[in-house]
Amino acid sequence: MSCIEHKTTPSAPGKATGRDHNPFDVMEPRTPLKTPVDRKNGKHVKANDIPPQGVYLPNDNILAPHMKSPEYVQLSTAAAITLGIMGGRMYGCECTRCLNLLLTYPEGCRANCAYCGLARHREAERDYADRNFIRVDWPAVPMTDIIDIVARDAENSPFHRMCISMITHSRSEEDTFAVLKQWTDRIDPDAIPVSILSNPTTMTRDDVQRTKDLGADIFTVALDAATPELFDRTRGKGVQSPHKWSKYWDIMLEARDIFGPQKFGAHIIVGMGETEYEVLNLVQELVDLGGHSHMFCFFPEQGSLMDHLPATPRDQWRRVQLARYLIDYRDARVEQMRFDDLGRVTDYGIADAELADIVDEGIAFRTSGCPGKFQDDISACDRPYGDSPPSDIASYPFHPKKKDIKRIRKQLDIPVTVE
Ligand code: SF4
Repeated sequence: MSCIEHKTTPSAPGKATGRDHNPFDVMEPRTPLKTPVDRKNGKHVKANDIPPQGVYLPNDNILAPHMKSPEYVQLSTAAAITLGIMGGRMYGCECTRCLNLLLTYPEGCRANCAYCGLARHREAERDYADRNFIRVDWPAVPMTDIIDIVARDAENSPFHRMCISMITHSRSEEDTFAVLKQWTDRIDPDAIPVSILSNPTTMTRDDVQRTKDLGADIFTVALDAATPELFDRTRGKGVQSPHKWSKYWDIMLEARDIFGPQKFGAHIIVGMGETEYEVLNLVQELVDLGGHSHMFCFFPEQGSLMDHLPATPRDQWRRVQLARYLIDYRDARVEQMRFDDLGRVTDYGIADAELADIVDEGIAFRTSGCPGKFQDDISACDRPYGDSPPSDIASYPFHPKKKDIKRIRKQLDIPVTVE
């Protein structure tokens, strides 16, 4: 059985609603409920004095208050399978090319983002290490165990990149530096480059500089929401969360300055209520600054404040994926594209034959993220099934096959001509 299969798969995107996009007025998060005092701030976990023992698989129910970064990190199920720490297989891929790590603490992330399974409000029902993050479980593992395995043969590692995801926590910066240093002390960053997925809310310019000095290669900001209004609704005041669009943007500009062109970028989730024009305008702005966008298809994470909302309809997602790829890698510009009065793409601004070739090539529909060792427009960060079930793939973690391209063409409403 695949470890990546989700426990509950929501109804097919778009089919349930009949819509071909997720409009702003529909995508309203729930209001977070009050957390009982005895569950606040990881109290429940900290009340136990059980030492951590090796790998912690979510739902093992061994509450371990000392299982925290920098000694422990969480890692994606795909990375755990690739390392051989967990058993299992992934549909369509032998391994993941990115070792995604996540800082971990008994009190968890102190932010409350509406779409996130790790959000603070969830402490009312689940301990931090048992919450899932972007659809899949993230087991907790001693950092030294991970490094020991990779350091055996870093040059020939299946991983083309390592990424440290920060969360919102008072120790997040110091522990990111510690994890990064542990890694670069033993693994040459030229053999496996490192990306930082930052938490700007608690960061300064000096912190950004320090990640660079310690050997990080790319610095990204998880903007997630495509407009300031949507950001505030899903990550800021709207859900009693501390984040501010302006701070995220400021730290991204510091990263641009420190890391340089093509070495910084932003994560954006598509389908949380922005229009296609709005998100592609942001993509263009990032390219004009010299950076990249990494896209995620909105998925209603069970237990999150948006779990009652529809996943992004596949036609909306494909249009944005394709247009974003053209802007990021094929020198197309948003001004050349055409949009209808609901902001949906109606024309990609390039010749039909060229567009057909790019669609059939398939790279546009692969997971987007920091590059690996194959080519610039193929992401190491393939995040298998992080934004969709294998039965209805949003971001392809492998190169789409002919049958996949036929499906994509139907979703894009482009005549199916693939041989
Ligand atoms: S800051 Fe990141 S980890 Fe924390 S709730 Fe928001 S999206 Fe989730």
